[in-house]
Amino acid sequence: METIHLKKNIEPELTFTQWFKNVYEAVKTTMIGMGITFKYVWGRDIVTIEYPEVREELPSNSRSRLFNDAENCISCLQCAVSCPVDCIYIAAVKRATDAPKIKTKDGTPIRLDLKQYTIDTALCMYCGLCTTVCPTECLTHTTDYEFASYTVASMKYDYLAPDIRAWRTRIVKS
Ligand code: SF4
Ligand code: SF4
Repeated sequence: METIHLKKNIEPELTFTQWFKNVYEAVKTTMIGMGITFKYVWGRDIVTIEYPEVREELPSNSRSRLFNDAENCISCLQCAVSCPVDCIYIAAVKRATDAPKIKTKDGTPIRLDLKQYTIDTALCMYCGLCTTVCPTECLTHTTDYEFASYTVASMKYDYLAPDIRAWRTRIVKS
């Protein structure tokens, strides 16, 4: 009859030297890890802010919320033509010949009456092309970044509407 030998898998007993070595290794590796952590936090400038209690001013050349100061818009359509996603909608009519002559703040004659100036900012990718081509510089990116919205429809801004016109005092410098 064949004899089967069963071997019991018994952990070798931990000697005091081995136990001490394990404790030493644990402390050493923890210190190395903490050393790396402190290297990245100690003496460094704080880069986070307690938003919204603290609000950071964006650089003046930030491409954030678009604003059209419509009183200085000459309805030239250059912004709409340059927009790669076609999210600018403009309607204008020719001013009557006997209407008073008006100009933008940079002296450009306004020959058309702006009837609609809408930007669907849900489509906008903030590329800045529209502001670059605007001859009167009435269309600008502002530094305003607090314009989250609950609906996609409310991201379509009508720049002739009083509520949007009211941004001017809040977001346009000068
Ligand atoms: S920033 Fe770009 S995508 Fe947005 S409206 Fe202007 S041209 Fe169009
Ligand atoms: S480019 Fe400027 S002036 Fe011309 S339609 Fe657009 S916002 Fe108005």
